[in-house]
Amino acid sequence: TYVIARACVDVLDKACVDECPVDCIYEGARSLYIHPDECVDCGACEPVCPIEAVFYEDDLPDDQREHLAANRDFFAEL
Ligand code: SF4
Repeated sequence: TYVIARACVDVLDKACVDECPVDCIYEGARSLYIHPDECVDCGACEPVCPIEAVFYEDDLPDDQREHLAANRDFFAEL
């Protein structure tokens, strides 16, 4: 899955939302989140993010890996 990481917090640009072909990017209070089960790994969201907040999960910088769990927690709580 792709993951939206730290740069999105309190920015929520939403350019990615318009690109996602399966509408799996959801809005939280302080960040956008990609639904890990709905994402089809097309990669369309990553290049359109103006702040480079989107990463493929394996490419998350080490200091932002916590966003993978935070992303799953967001959907677990819905
Ligand atoms: Fe949507 Fe594709 Fe991005 Fe997954 S990788 S969130 S399917 S645009």
